[in-house]
Amino acid sequence: MEGLLVCDGQTIVTVNDSFAALVGLAASELVGAQVRQFLPDEGTRLRLLDSPNRALEGDLLTRDGSRNPVELIMRQVDFAGKPHRAIAVRDLRARNSAEQHIRFLAHHDSLTGLPNRSSFNKRLDQEIELAMSSERKLAILCLDIDRFKEVNDLFGHAAGDKMLQSVAARIASTLDRDQMVARLSGDEFAIILSGLSNPAAAGRAAEIIMETLRAGSDRAAEADDASISSSIGIAVCPDDATDPHVLLTHADTALYRAKNEGRGIYRFFEASMGAAVRERRLLEHDLRQAIARQELRLVYQPLREIPSGNAVGFEALVRWRRQARGDVEPSEFIPIAEETGLILPIGEWVLREACRVAATWKQPLTVAVNVSPVQIHNANFAHLLHEILFQTGLPPHRLELEVTETALVRDLNRALETLRRIKMLGVRIAMDDFGTGYSSLSNLRAFPFDKIKIDRSFIKSVNVNGQAAAIVRSVLGLSRALGLPVLAEGVETAAELEFLERENCHQGQGFLLGRPADIETFNELIEGDAAAADRPVVIPANAKALALAAS
Ligand code: C2E
Ligand code: MG
Ligand code: MG
Repeated sequence: MEGLLVCDGQTIVTVNDSFAALVGLAASELVGAQVRQFLPDEGTRLRLLDSPNRALEGDLLTRDGSRNPVELIMRQVDFAGKPHRAIAVRDLRARNSAEQHIRFLAHHDSLTGLPNRSSFNKRLDQEIELAMSSERKLAILCLDIDRFKEVNDLFGHAAGDKMLQSVAARIASTLDRDQMVARLSGDEFAIILSGLSNPAAAGRAAEIIMETLRAGSDRAAEADDASISSSIGIAVCPDDATDPHVLLTHADTALYRAKNEGRGIYRFFEASMGAAVRERRLLEHDLRQAIARQELRLVYQPLREIPSGNAVGFEALVRWRRQARGDVEPSEFIPIAEETGLILPIGEWVLREACRVAATWKQPLTVAVNVSPVQIHNANFAHLLHEILFQTGLPPHRLELEVTETALVRDLNRALETLRRIKMLGVRIAMDDFGTGYSSLSNLRAFPFDKIKIDRSFIKSVNVNGQAAAIVRSVLGLSRALGLPVLAEGVETAAELEFLERENCHQGQGFLLGRPADIETFNELIEGDAAAADRPVVIPANAKALALAAS
């Protein structure tokens, strides 16, 4: 396979077909030609003569004038009874291009062809050094495609890959030659902008990049023309940091903030973000483990009839005792659970636990469970509910789901569909925190609610606050018209309770009527003789008695 030529001095005597092919001439045309015509570099020729039997590299000049890298070995041979030189010539182009390819792969991402993390790091080191020795600034932009996971899940990995390639090409098209975009991992890209006179220039570059990704068609079937929403975090050297690792972390922190502030935006790093973001990440991380570590538990708060004071049921409220940190309020971790999707496993745990516990009560009291919008909009929810009721053996009419209005308006038709299926199981539905959302009459009529819970902000000082009193009265009037019972949340004082009693409010819940506590605290309410099991427990508490007890 190697090219071979035999020479007498500098004159070629004969060649094989491989050599003729390498130089692009017929073997017959080469007889009588001079070696230097094909090995034009004198140094190479001299080294070849000086070191027989040793391989060395040189250039082979071909007929069309190109120089190709070759490996050469010369040895003395006897040819036609006279000493000659035989030279073996091996084409190195294939090997070199394989080597180059390997080098390329080591420094690039094979999917998008962009530089990879290791080249990014190397370049960043150099650029920081340059920036430090000049007056100019350097910015790192971390970019992440919004909801990229959904693209992969919905359309498959091939579509995801196409989108990444398109993003890479579109970002690159906005950059000058001396700027760099690299793919660091997954859907995470990083851009180095050097030689900036001020940080604002980085903000403008971010806007252009986001706009270029957004341009394209919303309805494009092909990823290369799709409208893509992205978020960007920016850190500036030397303003934010001069250490490459710290700078990148800062840009990433700013990206995280951009994502949390609604996506589709860019944010500059601010020193105050670091601590807050670290804290939030830690919380997310711990929350992910909370179920497995058995850190969640439920407390129960009685719901009582007014004025009898009879307990009609309990609202189950989740508590999280976070490892090494102590109790975390639901108002702090539920929103995070909703954003991250963790509310699905957590909500399922709450439902199952509340139903399991309520099924053991001797008294047939109801248990009210809060469900988040994310759960309601999950296609599987009614099915899950059915399964939990079946497994725990809780009769459906003893379960009440508390839903806020905001949960419903995001997708009215879908929510309505889910609520109807829930109702068909025999489970009841209460509208929670009424008055804080849209409080629209049409929602009340459209949805199959069984109860309205007036938010505690309207109950606070309702006895002295004329405006709050007017609102509570009108909600009560509305509920009478719709035939729905009303529960007042956050009843804290005897005076508030008396007001509610005068206005014929049906039920109340609040610190005055019982604080949320472990279920054992309410043993006397849930136990009781089996014979009494099918009628509500009467406890000797009415508004006046409770008022006395509270004072
Ligand atoms: P919510 O459903 O309106 O629950 C009532 C909240 O009011 C509870 O707060 C309860 O402790 C508090 N509360 C009761 N009586 C009084 C009172 O007299 N005065 C005052 N100031 N507050 C009173 P908590 O337990 O902190 O829960 C806050 C919110 O977190 C709940 O509001 C609910 O929206 C949500 N939440 C709680 N547990 C769960 C759950 O398991 N799943 C979901 N998705 N959300 C939950
Ligand atoms: Mg509630
Ligand atoms: Mg509420």
